[in-house]
Amino acid sequence: METSAKLPELFGSMVFNEETMKERLSSASYEAWKKSVTDGTPLELSTANEIAEAMKQWAVEKGATHFTHWFQPMTGVTAEKHDSFIEPAEGGKIVMEFSGKELVKGEPDASSFPNGGIRSTFEARGYTAWDPNSFAFIKDNSLYIPTVFLSYGGQALDKKTPLLRSIEKVNQQALRILRLFGDTETKRVIPQVGAEQEYFLIDKDVYDKREDLRLTGRTLFGNMPPRGQELSDHYFGQLKPRVSEYMRDLDNELWKVGVLSKTKHNEVAPGQHEMAPIYTDCNASCDQNQLAMELMKKVALRHNLVCLIHEKPFAGVNGSGKHDNWSLGTDTGKNLFKPGSTPSQNAQFLLFLAAFIKGIDEYQTTLRCTVASAGNDHRLGAQEAPPAVLSIFLGSELEHVIKAIINGTPYKDGSRKTLKIGIDSLPQIRQDTTDRNRTSPMAFTGNKFEFRMLGSAQSVSGPNIALNTIMAEELKEFADKLEKSKNFQADLQKLIKKTLTDHQRIIFEGDGYDDAWLVEAEKRGLKNYPSTAEAIPHYDDPENIALYVNNDIYTEEEMHARRAIHEEIYNAQISIEARTMSDMIRRQILPAVSEYATTLADRIAVKKDAGFSAGYEAKVGAKISTLSDKLQLAQEKIDNDLKKKPADATKCMKYSRDTILKDMNKAREIADQLEELTDRDFWPFPVYSEMLFSE
Ligand code: ADP
Ligand code: MG
Repeated sequence: METSAKLPELFGSMVFNEETMKERLSSASYEAWKKSVTDGTPLELSTANEIAEAMKQWAVEKGATHFTHWFQPMTGVTAEKHDSFIEPAEGGKIVMEFSGKELVKGEPDASSFPNGGIRSTFEARGYTAWDPNSFAFIKDNSLYIPTVFLSYGGQALDKKTPLLRSIEKVNQQALRILRLFGDTETKRVIPQVGAEQEYFLIDKDVYDKREDLRLTGRTLFGNMPPRGQELSDHYFGQLKPRVSEYMRDLDNELWKVGVLSKTKHNEVAPGQHEMAPIYTDCNASCDQNQLAMELMKKVALRHNLVCLIHEKPFAGVNGSGKHDNWSLGTDTGKNLFKPGSTPSQNAQFLLFLAAFIKGIDEYQTTLRCTVASAGNDHRLGAQEAPPAVLSIFLGSELEHVIKAIINGTPYKDGSRKTLKIGIDSLPQIRQDTTDRNRTSPMAFTGNKFEFRMLGSAQSVSGPNIALNTIMAEELKEFADKLEKSKNFQADLQKLIKKTLTDHQRIIFEGDGYDDAWLVEAEKRGLKNYPSTAEAIPHYDDPENIALYVNNDIYTEEEMHARRAIHEEIYNAQISIEARTMSDMIRRQILPAVSEYATTLADRIAVKKDAGFSAGYEAKVGAKISTLSDKLQLAQEKIDNDLKKKPADATKCMKYSRDTILKDMNKAREIADQLEELTDRDFWPFPVYSEMLFSE
């Protein structure tokens, strides 16, 4: 473990970052790289060659033997294929080589990645291209080069390409707005993201004995232990020694590869924890969250722990989510969602806020789709995470400001001073509006929005692509209007007032966990897609296609392909869960309970011979036998369900949810009753109390 004095040295030591580039590249090449990052100018091959050579030397000094293009296909996890630097040389020797061509472009045989039918098999190759905006880094003796992943026709096959496109779009449109406010200084607007990540830790020996955890990431059976999270003593509780060591080790690994890991603490459920990094630019943040999830799992193994990132590893206690903190920053260090201290700054803030409110209201469906997954279905709307309905929480101060603007009434600030809301001046807003509402899907927390619907296992790219694109779209509409305005101040006030009036239904300050909210939301006309099977068919609704196509994020074909991929993944996950469940019932639970019932029968015979009563054994044995018969039928039903899956993927999603998952729940209920009746020594795998308190 590193000492704190060495931390500044340790941080980013495995990253080929700007500092290192400055040191190791000629100033011409460094400038060329910088230019390509700021305005997208492609690198000349000679520059690429020089960067590659410098990267290789640096990497070899740090012990790297291989390099890999690192990309983010639609699976949601990252992909890599390693090539060594070796090239044969004279006399049977080798030299270490790495060219600009290898840096800039790779050609993985990509035919086995999900593509949603985009590529025909005769052109199954894809290619990866270096994203010079993200720094290369070293992990496990390989140089990792962050890349985008495209088909030969140029269609995006990954999550990074559309993300980069969306970052560029929101930059362009936000700049137009800033210019209208007389800002000529800002050169770039960059979305900022901080992704808080929840996870569980359990002992590896226990994990290895659970086929469901190994194959599906969640427990398909199990009763709540006598003790769960009801004492609320785990949240922010003391770290157990093994967990504390794990977290230290994890921090070190994260810091080495440049992840700004900042906060660590125990979460609500036993065995549950959280890591939050300091926010950074959206592209790096998305890369870093992928890296963090990977390292969390890897480092756990060193401590004989397993890190579970599934959204709902255990029924009955809280599952894991992710909070995507999002804002817009400028290259001059300003935050566009920070309320200002002068009326003009406030007008700008309120315009960005209005754009955001309008965007979330208009594009609820696409946002809902970005957090739809089989795992997240267990959390959203289940009283432990926000409901599946989008709404925005602003905090009482800001809500009052907005009400005052809509109604044209005076606004009293925090000190109850009445502030005039005139035609040409907007109210002053306190800068520390930090109300909290844990139940809101989208909460304004002073200077950023916290999107809280994300599942713990998902890539954060999808939600950020949506937020960036929605914001770009709304800002574009505003800029188009205001650029033509003859009286900017008056038109600005009108636009803010009209936008807030038209979209106030999306603002909700109450308890999102309350059932009454769903009724109210329906009255307001807000969209409610309770599950993935209901949400994903709307992925490529016409207004979503228009949003992404008009902003050059996806083509229409890419949108249909992405919907198909989401459907395929969902269906595959449910089928795997169903098959795993059936397998565990047939080959583990039924044989085990049969053996226990037989043991009871033997004991009954022996006891009766001895003239003892055997009422307890007889009662339990009979119950177990009846339940076993029921469980066997329930398992057959699951097998039959699997045989009858509709070929059409959209229908199959509905069928998976309405038929397969329902029958799985029935089987689980029976199995869980059996667990309660069966001698622990006979039960074939560890139970909840052994898993949840095993770290
Ligand atoms: P909490 O949500 O627990 O109150 P914080 O508000 O401190 O915690 O921050 C949560 C996350 O939000 C952290 O990752 C933090 O770096 C990030 N964050 C803070 N400010 C911004 C911002 N302006 N833009 C994006 N993310 C931010
Ligand atoms: Mg938070």
